[in-house]
Amino acid sequence: MDTNTDLTAMNELHWLIDMVQTIEVGLVVLDRDYNIQLWNGFMENHSGVAPNSIKGKNLFEQFDYLPATWLKQKMESVYLLKNRAFISWEQRPFVFQFKNYRPITGRADFMYQNVTLLPLSSLTGEVTHISMIVYDVTDVAINKLQLKSANERFEHLSQIDGLTQLFNRRHWEQCLQKEFDRHARYGSDTSLVMLDIDHFKSINDTYGHQAGDKVLQNVSHLIKKSLRETDCAGRYGGEEFGVVLANTPAANARFFAERLRKKLEQLEICYEEHIIKITVSLGICEIKPEIMDSDTWLSLADQALYQAKEAGRNCTIAHE
Ligand code: GH3
Ligand code: MG
Ligand code: MG
Repeated sequence: MDTNTDLTAMNELHWLIDMVQTIEVGLVVLDRDYNIQLWNGFMENHSGVAPNSIKGKNLFEQFDYLPATWLKQKMESVYLLKNRAFISWEQRPFVFQFKNYRPITGRADFMYQNVTLLPLSSLTGEVTHISMIVYDVTDVAINKLQLKSANERFEHLSQIDGLTQLFNRRHWEQCLQKEFDRHARYGSDTSLVMLDIDHFKSINDTYGHQAGDKVLQNVSHLIKKSLRETDCAGRYGGEEFGVVLANTPAANARFFAERLRKKLEQLEICYEEHIIKITVSLGICEIKPEIMDSDTWLSLADQALYQAKEAGRNCTIAHE
C-alpha cells in the first residue's frame, strides 16, 4: 500500500467514526459477556453516560432496569443462529429508559424504540460481538396509538345512543342476531323483552320535549341497572327498548320483566317543579323451534307488546 491509499483509508475510518458518533440512531457493541465496547453519541446524549465511563462495563450491571433474562435469551439466539433479531415497540415500548424530548410528541414521557440485534463476526467468521441498533420511533408510535384510541372511541360512539347511553338500534340488532345465532348453535334458552313507555306522547305534550328526554334517560338508567353482564339492552325506537336475555327461558324473562315494570312504576322523575310518573308495557318472546330468524323473533315479541297495550297497558304479556 502506498502512502496515498493509506491516507485515504485513514480518512475513511475517521469519517466512519464521526458518523457513528453523530448519527441519530443508538449504536452499542457488546462482547460475549455483555460488556460494552462501543457507546455512540446518541446513547450518550440520551442516557447521560459518556463512552469513557461505560466502556468495558457490563450492560446489565449498568442498567439494572433492563429485562435481563429476556434480553439475554434474545442475544443468545443471535449468537447461536448468526441471525439478526428485532424488538418492536409494540412488543415492548422501549429497551433503554430514555426521556422523550421531541416537541411534537410531547405527550410521551419516554422514547419508544425499535431495536435490532445484529451479530458481528470476526475475520474467521465467528460471531464474537453483538451490535444493538436503537431507533427512536416515538413519533410513529404516538401516531399509531392515537389513531387506535380514536378508532376505539369512534367505534364506541357508533354503537351508543347519545340520549340514553344504551346501544343504538343498529348495534342492538347485531346483538339480537348474535344471540339468535348462539341459540341456533347451542340450543341455549334465550328470551327477548320489548318495552314501550305508556302514553309517552302526553308527557311531551304536558311538560315539553325536554321533560320527555329526561324520562327516557331515567328509564334507560333503570333498565341498565337491572341487567346482568350477558344481557344486552338497546333503544329500539323513540320510547321503545329491547332487552336480549341470554340463558333465560320465558318464565325467567317474565320474572325479569315484571320486576322491571314494578320498579319503573315506582320511579319518580323530577322535572322543574313536577314529579313525573310513568308506566310501561312489555312483550316477551322466547326462541322456539318454529322461529326461523331474528326478524320473526323480534316481531313476535313486538306483537306480545302490542297485546299488552291492548290489555290496558302497565303489564307484561308473553308470546305463546
Ligand atoms: P302508547 O301507550 O300507545 O305507547 O302511547 P305513546 O304516546 O307512548 O306512543 P306514541 O307512539 O303515540 O308516541 C311516542 C312519542 O314519543 C311520539 C314522539 O314524539 C315521542 N318521542 C320519540 N322520540 C323522542 C325523544 O327522543 N324525545 C322525546 N322527548 N320524545 C320522543
Ligand atoms: Mg309508547
Ligand atoms: Mg312506541
